Formats: sequence, C-alpha cells, structure tokens
Amino acid sequence: MIVLGAGVSGLTTAVTLAETGHAVQVLAASLPPDTTSNVAAAFWYPYRTRPSDRSTRWAVRSYAAFAELCDEPAAGVSMRRAFDCARTPLGRPWWADAVQGLERIRGTQGPDGFGHGWRFDAPVIDTRTYLPYLLDRLSAAGGRVELATIEDFTVLPTRETIINCCGLGARLLCDDRALHPIRGQLLHVENPGLEHVLLDEHDGGGIAYAVPRGDHVVLGGTATEHDDDLEPRPDDADTIAARCGALDPRLARAPRIRDVVGLRPGRHDVRLQREQVGEHTVIHNYGHGGAGVTLSWGCARDVLALLDAP
Ligand SMILES: Cc1cc2nc3c(=O)[nH]c(=O)nc-3n(C[C@H](O)[C@H](O)[C@H](O)COP(=O)(O)OP(=O)(O)OC[C@H]3O[C@@H](n4cnc5c(N)ncnc54)[C@H](O)[C@@H]3O)c2cc1C
Repeated sequence: MIVLGAGVSGLTTAVTLAETGHAVQVLAASLPPDTTSNVAAAFWYPYRTRPSDRSTRWAVRSYAAFAELCDEPAAGVSMRRAFDCARTPLGRPWWADAVQGLERIRGTQGPDGFGHGWRFDAPVIDTRTYLPYLLDRLSAAGGRVELATIEDFTVLPTRETIINCCGLGARLLCDDRALHPIRGQLLHVENPGLEHVLLDEHDGGGIAYAVPRGDHVVLGGTATEHDDDLEPRPDDADTIAARCGALDPRLARAPRIRDVVGLRPGRHDVRLQREQVGEHTVIHNYGHGGAGVTLSWGCARDVLALLDAP
C-alpha cells in the first residue's frame, strides 16, 4: 500500500491502515514540519466543508478519536471549552450532534457584546507535537516514510493500491481543476491568560478565532479563495489582531510572535473515492478545505472501508 502525502490526511490514513495490518509506505514531497497541516490552528471545527452527511459523519468520528487522544500526553491533544460567539441569536449548528457539552451562550457568559452563540468542548490539536506523534505511531506499526515527489501515478508499481492524500498537490497530480488554494494567514501572540477557544464566524468579515496553545495563542484568520501568496501581509495581521481584540481585548495588546500563512486545499467537496487510473487502483482522500484536521480520522476510516470493499 502506498500513501502519497505526509500531512494530517496522509499520516492519519497511514496509521489507520498500518494498525489494521496493512504494509504501508508513505511517499511525500514534504514532511512535517513543512506541510500545510503544520500551519493549521488546529482545533476541531468543521470550517469550509459542506454540511453533507459524509462531513458530519467524518467530523463525529474524528471528534471521538481526538477525545480519546486527550488521555495520551505524547499526542498533544487537549479538550478546551470553545465559545462560538454571535451578537444575535444563532440556530442550532449542523455539527451539534458531533460535540460534547453543547450549550447556548446566554447573557454575559460570552465576551462583551456577544450575548449569543454556543459553547461546546473542542479538541485542540498542537500540530507541533501531533504530527511527529503520528509519524512515531506509524513507525511503531511498521510503516515507512520516504521523501519523494510523484508527478504521475504510472511511476508507481501497479500491484500496490495508491492512497492519494496530496492535499493541494492533487491539483497537478490529478489535473483536478476543482481544487484551489484558499489562503489563510494567522498571527501567533504571547498568551495573556486565555484558556478558552473564542470564535466568531457570524459578525461579517469572515472567521475570527483565538486558540490557546500553552504559552502562545493562535489568532486567525483570513480565507482568500484562489490566492496562493505565501508572504504574510501586515494589513491582514492588523485586521486579525483587531477582530480577535473584539473577542478579548487582551489579544489586541498581546506581544506578537510571528505571522504564519498556509494554503487550504479548497474544493466543493472532499474527494474520497476509488478510481481506476489505467492499471493503478487509486483511493483519493484530498480537498479538505479548512477542516482537514477536523475530518482526518473519519476520512481515514472510510479509506479503510473502501479498501476492504469488494
Ligand atoms: C491558516 C490555516 C488554518 C487552519 N486551521 C484549521 C483548523 O483549525 N482545523 C482544521 O481542521 N483544519 C484547519 N486548516 C485546514 C487544514 O490545515 C487542511 O485541511 C489540512 O492541513 C489538509 O491536510 P492534507 O494532509 O490533506 O494536506 P497537506 O497538509 O498539504 O499535506 C499534503 C502532503 O502531500 C504531499 N504532496 C503533495 N503533492 C505531492 C506529490 N505530487 N507527490 C508526493 N507528495 C505530495 C505534501 O508534500 C504533503 O506531505 C487550516 C488551514 C490553514 C491554512
């Protein structure tokens, strides 16, 4: 079995396959820490993925997997109280059944001026720890990892099933015109004492969020379709700091550490399907948009099911 890609999709899939007895080789053009998955905020939240039945199922399964990983210190996963804040009443989110501890925000429970929305428990995944953890787990299950850029499936042996987890790289590999970059800029600041995840997707101007990760907080973010510029933009950083400052004024004043930019693999739908490409059997698992971490374990499970299907 060959898994292409060593981001969160490739490594989670590789671990799932290796731990169920498959011989797995990962081939990847880049390894952690040099993948988009490393850039992710990364908290469980089904952002920029359609509320289809499949996404909900993947998000539910991944939530359960991350909840279990909270008991493993080496994984770098913790459960935080998250506030999905709004200034006006919100309907029940489509992902409500996936999460634990969902409650309406009432009165002064939310940040100043945000008297509405939802509170829930959200897994926060520190990618600095989590992706190396997946690599270790893969190695312990007998999986191998190699740096290699694959420009055509035909260079791979036909006897092996190929699992394509190339993220945005699948655009070239599969000539998939539906796949496109969604540029995301983040700002890391020193943690002024924030313990909860704060989130505002309803106030106009896209999503704003603050994810505490120990000594620093990840502030987000931007989401510009069809923009592949990896250079940080000072104006974006200022807007992010201002919007997060509306959620907690300490965040606007917190000393800045670094700007970070990544390109989400945007697609109208995650491509998770089997395809016969000439003599090669390929299972695609890419196009997770802004929710690759959130969907990772559920998608890996479906790859396994497709593999075992007649
Ligand atoms: C700013 C930002 C914030 C985000 N925050 C969150 C969040 O809070 N929660 C969340 O769930 N998601 C978040 N995301 C989205 C998430 O990061 C992506 O959905 C996810 O990283 C996609 O993972 P992937 O493994 O599919 O792709 P990648 O991480 O891009 O990995 C792709 C892998 O394929 C390899 N590859 C590519 N082409 C080839 C080739 N031809 N041959 C061999 N290997 C190849 C690459 O080298 C790499 O190893 C965020 C994204 C950004 C940019």
